[in-house]
Amino acid sequence: MRIGIMGAMAEEVSQLRPHLSEVTTEIRGMREYVSGQLLGKSVTLVFSRWGKVAASSTATTLVERYGVDCLVFTGVAGALDPSLNIGDIVVASRLVQHDMDASALPGIEKYEIPLLGVSRFNVDEPYVSSARRAAEAYLSEDLSRDISDEALKEFHISEPQVTSGMIASGDQFIADTAVAQALCRQLPGLKCVEMEGAAVAQVAYEHNIPCIVLRTISDKADHSAVVDFPKFVSNIACHFTCGSVLRLLALMDD
Ligand code: SAH
Repeated sequence: MRIGIMGAMAEEVSQLRPHLSEVTTEIRGMREYVSGQLLGKSVTLVFSRWGKVAASSTATTLVERYGVDCLVFTGVAGALDPSLNIGDIVVASRLVQHDMDASALPGIEKYEIPLLGVSRFNVDEPYVSSARRAAEAYLSEDLSRDISDEALKEFHISEPQVTSGMIASGDQFIADTAVAQALCRQLPGLKCVEMEGAAVAQVAYEHNIPCIVLRTISDKADHSAVVDFPKFVSNIACHFTCGSVLRLLALMDD
């Protein structure tokens, strides 16, 4: 199995990169693809950039050029479920493109991808549970080694939790309570919102390969959403990503 690891944050990718051996790199379409061995698995690691087009073009290159047969996507996300806190980890069990709406056309429902007939991309349960177990193991066993109590306190993180559920993706950074609440009303059960996961899930679906999406909650998709973003990513989220991905790879079959 060759695994494509995509990070929406450059810092997440930089943190994982030193763990690769037998490294080769290639620049294509404004991305640097880093291939090598990671915990005995062949991987290609890349910073996807942000948004659905950026993520789907990167995912397609991973499949077509690097022959990956599994996609792992990491990044941060805005919480929509009020029970989630900053620092919690969400594993996608279903993904939806919240800005897809061709329902003005006959026979097409809101959120349905035209001509594909799919409006939610499901992640197979074994992948969801492996990713959950990986993130849980990271938080309970490795977190205190990577991040000081002071750094966690700065973001009011005390006991980060792992959950799974529906993630919505769209080409919009949501930083408005009214917009966030409207999304929750339209898509009941939504955990969080981001800008790439469901696009990568579509590429995976079209190529019939699995896709695992794992997100650290960075904000609550409200007016405070952009505060201290870079610091959160470099001090907290990139450790969560790197640690969870390493744990996940150790759990995956060869
Ligand atoms: N690190 C940047 C901010 C990144 S914002 C900075 O330095 O300011 C864009 C990324 O955050 C995307 O990958 C998106 O998926 C994710 N994201 C986090 N919170 C989000 C929200 N509330 N709405 C949409 N995307 C969000």
